[in-house]
This record gives sequence, C-alpha cells and structure tokens, in this order.
Amino acid sequence: MKESQREVDRWVTTAVAAERSGFKVRTIRRYIRKGRVSAVMRGRVYLVNLSSLAHAKKPYHKRCLNCGKAFRAARVNQKFCKDRCRILYHNRKYRKKKRIMDKAE
Ligand SMILES: [Zn+2]
Repeated sequence: MKESQREVDRWVTTAVAAERSGFKVRTIRRYIRKGRVSAVMRGRVYLVNLSSLAHAKKPYHKRCLNCGKAFRAARVNQKFCKDRCRILYHNRKYRKKKRIMDKAE
C-alpha cells in the first residue's frame, strides 16, 4: 500500500513540480508540450511525473532500434535515430510477418 502511495506522490501539479524541482512553471509547460516529461490531464490541470522531470533537461541517450547507432532522443518515447530508420524498421517487420504468412499458406 505504501508503494502505491509513493507512486501517487510523484504526480503533482505544475506549480508543485516547479517548487520541488526548481524549474519555472513555464519551463515545465514547455517540457510537457515537447513530450520530454510524463504528464497527464486531470480536468483542466496537468499532473507532472516528478521523477521524469529530474532528467528532462538532459538529452535521452538511446540506441536506435534499426541501425543500433547511439543518438540523442528529443522525446522520452523516441526509438529511432531518424525517420528513415523508423520506416525501414517497420517495413522490415511487416515483410517478415508477410513472409511467415505466405509460408503458412
Ligand atoms: Zn538509426
């Protein structure tokens, strides 16, 4: 029960997040808009995930799912270094699936 309570505590309004993180409310709103922090709409206010705010300023260092190259992601959920990689990856995935389907027939 304690664990879930802590989970709830991490979701705070932008004003509280600003107070605890030292960011300006305006900065936090920008991060929300750019998808750099996890946020949920609750009525008319945004609830921000405090732990996601901790590393919002730093670029996300990730490895591209397609080419395996290291890159700086602009968003939390970015998986590919460029659009071309994203398209190639999904094309390959689709073709592989189709090949299996063709074999089954
Ligand atoms: Zn790539």
